[in-house]
Amino acid sequence: MSTSPSIIDTRRDQMFPVLEPFESERLHRFGKVRLYDAGAALAKVGELGIGLILILSGQVEISRRDGLGHSTQIVTYGPGSFMGELAQLSGRPTLIDAYARTPVEALIISPDQLRALLIAEAELGERIMRALILRRVGLLETGAGGPVIVGRVGNGDVLRLEGFLRRNGHPRQRLDPDADPEAKALIERFHVDPGELPIVLCPGGELLRNPSENELARCIGLVGPIDPNRVYDVAIVGAGPAGLATAVYAGSEGLTTLLLDCRAFGGQAGASARIENYLGFPTGITGMALMARAYNQARKFGVETAIPDKVIGLEAASGSGSGRFVLKLATNERVTARSVVIASGARYRQLAVEGLESFEAASVHYWASPLEAKLCAGQEVALVGAGNSAGQAAVYLASQVSKVWLLVRGRGLGSSMSRYLADRIAGLSNVEVLTRAAITGVDGHDGVLEAIRWRRGTGEEERHPIQHLFLFIGADPNTDWLSGSGVALDGKGFVLTGVDAGEDRYSLETSRSGVFAIGDVRSGSVKRVASAVGEGAQVVVTLHRVLAAAGREPATVVSR
Ligand SMILES: Cc1cc2nc3c(=O)[nH]c(=O)nc-3n(C[C@H](O)[C@H](O)[C@H](O)COP(=O)(O)OP(=O)(O)OC[C@H]3O[C@@H](n4cnc5c(N)ncnc54)[C@H](O)[C@@H]3O)c2cc1C
Repeated sequence: MSTSPSIIDTRRDQMFPVLEPFESERLHRFGKVRLYDAGAALAKVGELGIGLILILSGQVEISRRDGLGHSTQIVTYGPGSFMGELAQLSGRPTLIDAYARTPVEALIISPDQLRALLIAEAELGERIMRALILRRVGLLETGAGGPVIVGRVGNGDVLRLEGFLRRNGHPRQRLDPDADPEAKALIERFHVDPGELPIVLCPGGELLRNPSENELARCIGLVGPIDPNRVYDVAIVGAGPAGLATAVYAGSEGLTTLLLDCRAFGGQAGASARIENYLGFPTGITGMALMARAYNQARKFGVETAIPDKVIGLEAASGSGSGRFVLKLATNERVTARSVVIASGARYRQLAVEGLESFEAASVHYWASPLEAKLCAGQEVALVGAGNSAGQAAVYLASQVSKVWLLVRGRGLGSSMSRYLADRIAGLSNVEVLTRAAITGVDGHDGVLEAIRWRRGTGEEERHPIQHLFLFIGADPNTDWLSGSGVALDGKGFVLTGVDAGEDRYSLETSRSGVFAIGDVRSGSVKRVASAVGEGAQVVVTLHRVLAAAGREPATVVSR
């Protein structure tokens, strides 16, 4: 059982600040006064939020509810307290219940007015934003207000659904059908066949049987329909660090912005256990924490999000010379925008070895950070790759583990790795380089590797008891969706930009005027969080010029 104190105990004052009367007065210009009778509901789990609710008089009882209907009181609000958490920034479904204990007079601040308030009122805005974030963290701790997943630990679909909600910063609970009486009761109540597990009970009462991430997202209100008549200034494909940076700068500079991602915000960086080399975080920060901050910042600036929504095509909007683009989505919906930023990143290449995917979560790594090193401290590990990233990882891991088996497909490291790295590896007694080597099989149980098999040249297959495999065999760009779009790619499928894409191109502009590419998906980019963020900021400057040419006032003047 965890002994760490709840955030409600440690940061109660910041979570539930009480505004002074003069501060409440300042907020009046952002909202409308509404009266509630004693006993009336101000908010209910699963219903669309009406925004931030500031209590002017009376008392309101706030409670969280789990997916099984159990209710726990969190706090009682009086005059000067405000109700709301992150969902209120964009009018998403509410995660708590709120009932008037007495007659209540309240100021209702709608989501768009709330965003205006956060920007216009610097000091008050900071306190309110901090409270909204901490309240979400509190709900994440308990899983309250989120869906309940009924399924067995270690089941692939349970991991998929839990991973999806975790990556999207959404509360959730999981019940084990073998151990939890409430899970058994749910299975009986809904006549669920064991083969249909996992099931998901949404806060609104809907039951989903082993849903896709998209079905689940729609059921809990994470993503809604796209307005087909809306024309955005910019549509950003990909919510990794590059797309998030564009969203923050575009939103803060007043551009109407839609940010799309087919999985979750954060991209590859969101999967990083600890980012150590991002400016300003000397002790490191988890990728998820860094990306969640950026995501909330984008929402504060009014950026609309469509996550998860997969983009499957890009074309010019009908009507010649409209200067607009249409993004086609997997849902058959369409997004129209005056400019498009491609930030769809890359996915690290996987090894084609039968059964390897079942060990991905616990035993196969695409990054060698202190976290992975800790997992395999003192053990033998295998590492596949011959480029500089493989070399750096081998050198680092050699200082933490008992032995690194470095498997190289070619005849040596010379042709693909920098000389200094190859020399350093040659000087390490616990790194053994195996040339012309290929992994032939993996063995293990319950997602944990027990042994790796490989063959050198035409030799016999060898089997080694190894629990951790590191893969550094390059990355493939996420550019399939650009097929037929007229956006030029390099030989490896990365997007060409600037002078490489055509003579008159702005920097970061693709071969199609008004379409830009940033971050890992861009040909020649540096594969780092900081460079993705930098390009995301930089591209917004150019967007203003393009939008000005399309008839929209430029906010900044830029030069080529
Ligand atoms: C495990 C790991 C750890 C890392 N650690 C570090 C580190 O410590 N320091 C560092 O500097 N770098 C690190 N990196 C590299 C860094 O994360 C990347 O360089 C960076 O994330 C690239 O950002 P990006 O926004 O360009 O692309 P990505 O992060 O790849 O994001 C692209 C996004 O686009 C979405 N997408 C793709 N196709 C579509 C589509 N058709 N429709 C909608 N959405 C789509 C994806 O779902 C994804 O969310 C790490 C990478 C990994 C994998």
